[in-house]
Parts: sequence; C-alpha cells; structure tokens
Amino acid sequence: MSSLKPVRGTHDILPEESLRRRLVEKTADEVAARYGYGEISTPLFEFTDVFARTLGGSSDIVTKEMYTFEDRSGDSITLRPENTAGVARALISNGLAQQLPLKFFYRGPMFRYERPQKGRLRQFHQVGVELLGVAQPLADVEVIAMAAQFLQALGVGGKTTLELNTLGDGESRGAYRETLVEYLLGRKGELSKESLERLERNPLRILDSKDPGDRAVIKDAPDMADSLNDLSKRFFDELLEGLETAKVAYVLNPRLVRGLDYYCHSAFEFTTQELGAQGTVLAGGRYDGLIKQMGGPPTPGTGWAAGVERLAMLIAEPVERRRPIAVIPVAPGQAAPALALAQQLRQAGFTVDLGYSGNMGKRMKRANKVNACAAVMLGEDELSRDAARVRDMDSGEQREEPLASLEDHLARYN
Ligand code: ATP
Ligand code: MG
Repeated sequence: MSSLKPVRGTHDILPEESLRRRLVEKTADEVAARYGYGEISTPLFEFTDVFARTLGGSSDIVTKEMYTFEDRSGDSITLRPENTAGVARALISNGLAQQLPLKFFYRGPMFRYERPQKGRLRQFHQVGVELLGVAQPLADVEVIAMAAQFLQALGVGGKTTLELNTLGDGESRGAYRETLVEYLLGRKGELSKESLERLERNPLRILDSKDPGDRAVIKDAPDMADSLNDLSKRFFDELLEGLETAKVAYVLNPRLVRGLDYYCHSAFEFTTQELGAQGTVLAGGRYDGLIKQMGGPPTPGTGWAAGVERLAMLIAEPVERRRPIAVIPVAPGQAAPALALAQQLRQAGFTVDLGYSGNMGKRMKRANKVNACAAVMLGEDELSRDAARVRDMDSGEQREEPLASLEDHLARYN
C-alpha cells in the first residue's frame, strides 16, 4: 500500500454527511416520482467511445477530465464523468426508442480528473433526470419546474437562482459562432491562453471563462439572441411562457453556455452565492442531437444533473437523527435482561442505545453523549417487581413503570 490517504479528490463519507446526502437523494427521488420519472442505474463504466463520441472532442471533459484505462482484454474503458451519455446508450441498447416518451431519474457517483477544491471532487455524486422523446418546449418547462420544486422541497429554494439562456438550433448556433469568433478575434490580445486555445475548437465555451481578462472581453460580446432564427426564437418564447404559467421564477443570462457539445435550445443553471466559485448546484439543457450521434434513431431529449455534495453543503440544519432510548443495567447481574429488553424495544420499532460496559455513572454519561431522550434503568429491585425506572433525560424526572406498559409509556419519545 503506497499510502493510507484516500486518492486526491476523493473522500470518505462519514455518517453525518451521509444523512445530508441521503436527504438530497431522497428528496430528488420523491419529487421525480411525482412527475412520473422512474429510476435508471447504468454501469459506472462504459466503453470510452460512449463519452468520447458524444461529449465532443473539444469539451473539457473529454480533453482533460476522463478516467480512461485499458482493461485486461484490451478494451478502452472510461469511468462515467456524467450520466446523460450512459442513459442515451441504455435507450439504444435496450431498444427503448419504441416506447417514447421516457422519463428517467438517476443518482450515483461520477468521476472527473479535475483540480480538487471545495465543492469540486474527482469522485462526486449527482442526481439527475432525463426526458426523452419530446421535442416541444413543454418538456423543458417540466424538467425545470421539477428542478425548482426539488430545491424548494430541500429547503434551499431561497438560496438559489434559476439562470436561463437559449443556444438555439444548429443553424442559429453556427451563425452565432461566426459572429462571436469575429468579435473575439478583434480583441485577441486580451484573451487568456486557455480561451485562445478554445477560439477555434469551442468558442462558445469562452463565454463560460472565469478569467478576469476574459470576463472583460465577454461583457461586450454580441448576444446569442441576435443570431436566433425564427424557429429558435419561437421555441425560447414558448419555454418562457411555460415557466411563467408554471410559476417558476428565472433570470435571463445571455452568457450562459453548457460545457458539453451536444446541447441546443434551452440551457439553464441553478446557482447560489453561498459556495464561492463552485456556485452551480444544478445544470441542464436540451440535447436533441445526442442519440442520433450515438448511432440511435433521432430522439430529442432534455434534462438536468445536480451536484449532491454542493447541495449537501447548502442544507443549513444538520439532519437530526432520531434520539435513542438508553437501556441501562444497574449492575452486571441485569446485563441479560437489559439485552433482552433492548431487543424487544428495537423489534417494536424504538431506537435504542445499549452500552457495552461500565458502571451506572459511565452509562449515564454515554446516554447524554448519544443525546438519549430517555433512559430505562433495570435494577434488581425494580425487576423483582417486573418494572423498570424510566428517566426523562430532558426534565430529569424519574418514575417506575411496569414492564407490561413500558412500550406504551415510551411511545411518547419515538
Ligand atoms: P463546473 O462549471 O462547476 O465545472 P460543469 O459544467 O462541469 O460544472 P455539469 O457537467 O453540468 O457541471 O454537472 C452538473 C453539476 O454537477 C454541476 O452543476 C455541479 O453541481 C456538479 N459537479 C460537476 N462537476 C463536479 C465536481 N468535480 N465535483 C463536485 N460536483 C460537481
Ligand atoms: Mg466542469
């Protein structure tokens, strides 16, 4: 073993964080189910082609972020950096294109070789949805409204803003690309090295740059809106109308682009001010060309993915665990009845803490440490009367309770 540290950009998820993360996943799952989305789990790794061919040769993910390796049979395999390509592949492999429209929810780990920082990991987790087979903007309205409801239900709706843009269809994007490149060439001297590299391969991505020099150039760049053809304009207008009808608040951000090449029309992000540079908690858009590009039948699609770690950080209150009832044998002679009672209560649905050793004083300390709501003390005297002593840990009040009615008495706590 070379080191006992976890690999850079990975970490162990300890119980407190697990509670927060589970809340994120459970809330997403519940809200998605209300919209009729069923869970899909695709493999954590795919043939490299699944990502390399679809994400676009110029995307950040393909050029520098993929975990790719050759397996023992010489196949090139990649750990999934995102799940849309995997879901599209699954649609084709399972011949599901006959059953459109299809609505999927997913959750699980994703892998990207990035520079780790707060809210940016090499193994991170996403929850997400895909709606396949619907070309109308109503599909985008639905997935965006679902995202807003999910964040609301999680209690972070007030901390996030929906930013929205359109990339138009292929024709509009091509026209904008030309206008943009012409403008950027005029101010080439002010661009960062990274943006200069993108100028030919993926100029739209420059709009997403965080470099201060680039930002100054981008501020005066031409707007996508001026390059939209009629069809793209109508699509966007209908999307905005739909969001107003569904009562989803948004702000337009003409500089918003998505990092992946397969997006068209709608592009959106829910952002927050509370996480520094990693402010995007949920992002998505429409990807009509993707499935055809993979070799499947032309199939429109739209969806989003949210970062579970970033959302878990946004949840204000640590999620409360159920407070346990401490079962305490007063002397070693009562250890067996204490174990029997603890098991009986757990079988009945109570949350129970049973210490492993120590005298009364040590066990009471432990009851406090685990934030027990009540302590049930079994002493020789009480047991001879078929009873136990119950202490309310908040008020300190104690009473003797017959074992026969103990469960009824404790029901107030759990
Ligand atoms: P960014 O601009 O932050 O790199 P992205 O455009 O690469 O984001 P997407 O591919 O759209 O992100 O992924 C959707 C969401 O997944 C992001 O908004 C973010 O919340 C989360 N996410 C993406 N990459 C990471 C990462 N390396 N670590 C943690 N969360 C991530
Ligand atoms: Mg990224």
